Amino acid sequence: MSKDTVLLSTEQHGIAARLLAEGGVVVFATETVYGLGANAYDDAACRAIFAAKGRPVDNPCIVHILDEARLDDVIVGADEITRALFSVFSPGPLTVVGEKHAAIAPAATGDLDTVAVRIPAHPSARSILRAAGVPIAAPSANRSGKPSPTTFRAAVEAMCGRVDAIIDGGACSVGLESTVVTTESGCVRILRPGAITAEMIRERLGVRVEFANGGESRVSPGTRHPHYRPDARVLAVERAEIEPTIARTRGEMRTQPDRDAGIGIILLGDELPESTETRTIVFPTVEAMAAGLYESLLEFDRRGCGVVIVEMPPPYGLGTAVRDRLNRAAGRE
Ligand code: AMP
Ligand code: MG
Repeated sequence: MSKDTVLLSTEQHGIAARLLAEGGVVVFATETVYGLGANAYDDAACRAIFAAKGRPVDNPCIVHILDEARLDDVIVGADEITRALFSVFSPGPLTVVGEKHAAIAPAATGDLDTVAVRIPAHPSARSILRAAGVPIAAPSANRSGKPSPTTFRAAVEAMCGRVDAIIDGGACSVGLESTVVTTESGCVRILRPGAITAEMIRERLGVRVEFANGGESRVSPGTRHPHYRPDARVLAVERAEIEPTIARTRGEMRTQPDRDAGIGIILLGDELPESTETRTIVFPTVEAMAAGLYESLLEFDRRGCGVVIVEMPPPYGLGTAVRDRLNRAAGRE
């Protein structure tokens, strides 16, 4: 596939919206990750998303809308919990699944009769939605299976030559894909953890919150496919396992002349007690780790690392979402 891709600067959202209205596919920034968008009413345009990504057609997109007033344009009969979730957490990194409105293109939802809906907070996404005046179907703008782009550079590397335009929205502040939930009789089920955490939903809405397990892959089809994997092999381990894992990996790479250049390390909180020759990125907080994780993995790929060793954050709050992505990046789920 080789298309002429226009690179747009931040203020050129009018051009991006016009391309979308004409049936084009445009990459734009959201607060989670860069998205690969098309008019959600235009079936041919939505099919072009899947071609650009190399994405299996049964893996549905998220449909983005500007505000809660437009919820009934995309979901039929949204329930009270759905409305409460949007009113508390939107605009923001939360996606809610509901019954699909007939006007939404079948390709946008992988032919499902449900639709996943989000109201993004990023000014670039909002300007484009406002100017386009239609809901925008957009999965993450990575090639299928790879980490999602969270910088303009990574979006260009992934999608130049495959889409009509890419608009610069800077670095994404959240850095992980949105929390995806379904609602049912007084309960919220998390299909994909994200920056809106189970703890936050419990506290703000006072409802029961559960995590869907592996058996739920029919409800959230995207979780079936390999995800978030850079070219390098990812070893995601707890803090206590970091140093033994580095030592073992060095041993395995003994035969390579520049073995340290071949290992990337991503840590949370503290440097290792002894400085090493390997390339290390240290994030001070889980939030910073979430924001920088994909770009770090892609940066180690650019530098030709064969292995990336990553410290798993603790398993609560935002750490749950980071661990989910790392487990998948490491091929564990
Ligand atoms: P992406 O935008 O690339 O992160 O992908 C969107 C993800 O949202 C999909 O991979 C699914 O896991 C989830 N999703 C989208 N639509 C639905 C739906 N109708 N039901 C359940 N999950 C969905
Ligand atoms: Mg994705």
